[in-house]
Amino acid sequence: MTAQTSLPSVTVFSLGGTIASTNAPGSDGGGVTPRLGARELVAAVPQLQETAELETVAFRQAASGDLTLEDMAALAKEIAHRFDQGTTGVVVTQGTDTIEETSFALDLLVSGDRPVVVTGAMRNPTLAGADGPANLLAAVQVAAAAGARGLGTVVAVNDEIHAARFVRKTHTSSPATFRSVTAGPLGWIVEGRPRIALRPAPLTKISLSDAVAIPSVALLTISLGDDGRLVDQVEALGYAGLVVEAFGGGHVPAQVVPSLERLVQRMPVVLASRTGGGQMLQETYGFPGSERDLLSRGLVSAGFLDGLKARVLLSLLLASGESAEGVRKRFEQVSELQ
Ligand code: ASP
Repeated sequence: MTAQTSLPSVTVFSLGGTIASTNAPGSDGGGVTPRLGARELVAAVPQLQETAELETVAFRQAASGDLTLEDMAALAKEIAHRFDQGTTGVVVTQGTDTIEETSFALDLLVSGDRPVVVTGAMRNPTLAGADGPANLLAAVQVAAAAGARGLGTVVAVNDEIHAARFVRKTHTSSPATFRSVTAGPLGWIVEGRPRIALRPAPLTKISLSDAVAIPSVALLTISLGDDGRLVDQVEALGYAGLVVEAFGGGHVPAQVVPSLERLVQRMPVVLASRTGGGQMLQETYGFPGSERDLLSRGLVSAGFLDGLKARVLLSLLLASGESAEGVRKRFEQVSELQ
């Protein structure tokens, strides 16, 4: 078995989700729940043994809506530890519901150029056509590939490779749910080989001290006829920042403006779009509540980050002790692709 010793080493961290969800033994319904750990997931895919030398870590066992940014900070430290020990790449398996947030948190928190690949499944292991095994194999193939170095954290699902900063879950049940609406996928996997077509700009990382508390940041979608009443409650509810998902390129009803203007004197307020694709405008419209108006009053542009990703970035920046000016600069850095 000499060939085995030359295989790249990949650590698989399992966090639960559909990919790990089965029925309880002897149960007669009631729904699947996360039960399988990384070891069982790896054992179900024999082809993995030809791809990498695998280490498995059952890190959490949760529906992904129960994961937190604190979990991601703890996972980032474990990943850094594995990289220090020489691991070639890391795979994280988890529920797909929050991959668009957790993968971006890992992208911001894990330094170095080694691959971190997040994956999951839309069809659980009890269903015909379960996609977990194929997604896990593809993710390990990416994590083991020299060409995946320097991509930052990526999401490998349905034979596509997506940058964490762009990817979104776009469908409730389709295995093709993950899309990078603004930029497209970075690449794909064919015949077991990752093909990288695009390389994203490097992301400036955020360093957190051990067991740091991550301040809560609210995310608010503006809707037709909104009057700002919810914005007025944000500070009293204990939030340390707000991300507003505004109309189109960054617009709110004029009657929301006074509430946002008051709040931005008290905490960072980031302006994102509720459309789910494209870059925020900066210099087009001049009406009250337009992007020009809101930016001139101190709101910070999310650039191309959607509301969920802007919330992750703002939360981690606040946790790292970044000043209001520092927050603005870091959002500019990300959206200028610098
Ligand atoms: N509810 C699952 C989750 O943990 C859904 C999934 O994995 O697709 O996110």
